[in-house]
Amino acid sequence: MATDTEGLSPNEMGPPVDLRSTTGDNSANQTAEIQCRQSMGIVPAKQVLYEALVNDAERVLIDCTVQGATSQIEVDGLWQQLPSLDPQSASMMVAVMKTLAHLNPQDRVSEQKGEFTANSGEIGRRCHITSIGTQTGERIVLKLQPKKPRFKSITDLGIRDEILDKFKQLTGKYMENPDEQIHSGIFIISAPANGGGLSTVWTHALGATDRFMRDFICLEPRGLNETEVENVQTIEVDMAGGQTFPQQIEKAKLKEPDVYVLPVVPNKETLDVLCDEAINNNRMSIISVNATDGVEAIHKIRTLGVAPDKFAKCLNGVMHMRMCRKLCDNCKQPFQPGPQYIQQLGLPPSHVQVLYQHYQPVMDENGNLPEPCPACVGKGFSGRTGMFELIELDDQLRQAVATQPDLNAIRQLAQQLGNKSTQQEGILHLAKGITSIQELQRALSS
Ligand SMILES: [Zn+2]
Repeated sequence: MATDTEGLSPNEMGPPVDLRSTTGDNSANQTAEIQCRQSMGIVPAKQVLYEALVNDAERVLIDCTVQGATSQIEVDGLWQQLPSLDPQSASMMVAVMKTLAHLNPQDRVSEQKGEFTANSGEIGRRCHITSIGTQTGERIVLKLQPKKPRFKSITDLGIRDEILDKFKQLTGKYMENPDEQIHSGIFIISAPANGGGLSTVWTHALGATDRFMRDFICLEPRGLNETEVENVQTIEVDMAGGQTFPQQIEKAKLKEPDVYVLPVVPNKETLDVLCDEAINNNRMSIISVNATDGVEAIHKIRTLGVAPDKFAKCLNGVMHMRMCRKLCDNCKQPFQPGPQYIQQLGLPPSHVQVLYQHYQPVMDENGNLPEPCPACVGKGFSGRTGMFELIELDDQLRQAVATQPDLNAIRQLAQQLGNKSTQQEGILHLAKGITSIQELQRALSS
């Protein structure tokens, strides 16, 4: 090995990844890049980012302690461990990443945020870096942003037209039939925490509203930058500086918006104002919360402390999204499920003759595995899709939201009234050959 790398600069070693400093002026960027290329820390930095790029990871998590560093990459919602690093390589690697982003490598305690880019061949990502001190050392989170968004629209995320139309109606879209027109209320958008896709569904659900027909105003805590949707004006609320949401909503009222958009409802007082706006001023609010399903999302909002009957009266519905991995179209394997199996899944036997599973490589007589599929680098999966649950509130469900403490009782009622669960939606993906039964089980239980 020594002879291979002799005489090479650190940047000439390691996998083919080009790391660039982008957020300073030209000379600051150049200085940072030159400094990093001469540091041995660039080799592990390239190794970690190479794995992240070729696997299309969304995040990288690096935990540094005195023993060294562990790194993980998040691929399609699943975390994969990378080889550990010794303390010296780890600290040099982190210093390289921080230098590229113009952060202070010596400060291992305060929260620092920045950005650099990583490219390998055709693949390029903007890497948002956050570093913060922990009890045992330091944690680095890289959020990898593709240059083109992963999804073009909510339809691209896998929603069915029927659910999308209902979402539009419940958020107040103009309806030809005046009996179907909804003027005011509160609508919740939800997804599981920790990479469950709330940002994704939030952005694309708002993108599907009629924000060009009505005036939307977004209020979000300063620095959150969660809502970047064309034609939705954002007001930042500086909570640390003493501003409150109710005050800022009061100011926003002067612009006479039709719809308030809040990715975070911080407290009871804010929800109370949104309820008053729905009841007295005919206004709509679209809010979001992390939850494991639609009913839990409702519950999380109702426990903010507003009178439950008042909240229930305003609530129009909730749309919850859960994601599952899509089978790679190039290598997925069909199999014929038994009729009993089809029945268990609740699928019509006449419609489904074949289901799919991910590619299971088989060794040849010499014990060699076949070359991995070029489309998915042998993962068997490629990208993700959403399973959408939509609960529309009618009088019966409003009554339950106002009085029923037992969430399972509300779930049962919602089902009886014809609202589909993410599981039922997932089974449709299964029937279409988009995902596998094992993946569906994993996605629904996580
Ligand atoms: Zn494949």
